[in-house]
Amino acid sequence: MFPFSFTKATSISEALEAGGRYIAGGTTLVDLMRETVERPETLVDIAALPLREITVTKGGGLRIGALATMTDAAAHPAVRGSYPVISQALELSASAQLRNMATIGGNIMQRTRCTYFRDVTAACNKRQPGSGCAALDGYNRSHAILGTSDQCVATHPSDVAVAFAALEASVRLLGPTGERGVPFADFLLQPGTTPNREQALRPGELITAVEVPAYPRPLKSGYLKVRDRQSYEFALTSAAVALHVRGGVIRAAKVAAGGVGTVPWRLSTVERQLIGRRPSPTLWSDAAARAADGARPLAHNGFKVDLLRRTVERQLRVVGGTA
Ligand SMILES: Cc1cc2nc3c(=O)[nH]c(=O)nc-3n(C[C@H](O)[C@H](O)[C@H](O)COP(=O)(O)OP(=O)(O)OC[C@H]3O[C@@H](n4cnc5c(N)ncnc54)[C@H](O)[C@@H]3O)c2cc1C
Ligand code: SF4
Repeated sequence: MFPFSFTKATSISEALEAGGRYIAGGTTLVDLMRETVERPETLVDIAALPLREITVTKGGGLRIGALATMTDAAAHPAVRGSYPVISQALELSASAQLRNMATIGGNIMQRTRCTYFRDVTAACNKRQPGSGCAALDGYNRSHAILGTSDQCVATHPSDVAVAFAALEASVRLLGPTGERGVPFADFLLQPGTTPNREQALRPGELITAVEVPAYPRPLKSGYLKVRDRQSYEFALTSAAVALHVRGGVIRAAKVAAGGVGTVPWRLSTVERQLIGRRPSPTLWSDAAARAADGARPLAHNGFKVDLLRRTVERQLRVVGGTA
């Protein structure tokens, strides 16, 4: 281990003034520190800040405090009742013990599970800019097929971030220069030429909440996760689907995929196939056929192209009601 200082913030202003690396549940940052992948000089413990509340907003959307645990967010009646896709994505994540500690803010900030990133002896542009990418010619079965660059092909591992991307959530931030909201689509960054830059956070900014907009009712939604084993495993592919059907016609369709992109991957092409159409098995299959448009598979992850299409089709059938 390496030396670092530790401050326990008792208020939001104290946390902002401390000027260090925030730690919430600690379920992933501590691992990275143990492996010396991350070496923050100052840790600011934010666990005691009043950011745990989950509320229904005036318009009927949701505001989930950044320090709400994954367990509490998944079980909240407003989340479970109105946005089951969020509850399901959370409950299919990690383990019960981890979900009791881990927070929503920490979850969307978690770093990739690329094994080369976590092995400090391997070349990794994300960990050490300019050092290369061992995954490109290495074992890349779990890596991304969408949003990749010649600098980095790592997937974003969060499940609930896929649901947030589909639902067009936004992230509330508070920093030295004030408060702002960032649409989820702009919050997590594709690697491009700067894979070490992963989020649109400015120095010192604290995530205070994630806000989910209201949708016309009924909104049926759900999350499907495909993985090598049925628990305690990250997604090979996943699909978050939310549909609003009125008068037998799909009026709103929100679809995103996980396990395949360098960020949670919004499937706008699939959504466009669905809007204004009547639910049917043929529609699900035709729309899902577009799910992997633009994919750039590597030596070992080409199977994800077909698996993604099948995952999306299956979840459209389940949510759309013709399963
Ligand atoms: C074995 C294992 C299996 C897992 N499986 C899954 C899985 O299947 N699906 C899944 O989605 N996740 C999975 N996870 C990840 C887990 O969900 C995360 O570890 C957890 O959500 C992180 O939350 P935390 O509060 O513990 O974050 P911390 O470890 O405290 O922090 C993580 C990062 O977020 C930053 N941070 C935290 N809060 C804030 C804030 N409010 N503002 C700004 N920055 C902040 C920290 O600085 C740090 O960089 C798994 C983890 C483990 C260890
Ligand atoms: S894929 Fe990204 S995280 Fe993994 S080794 Fe390459 S640069 Fe590093």
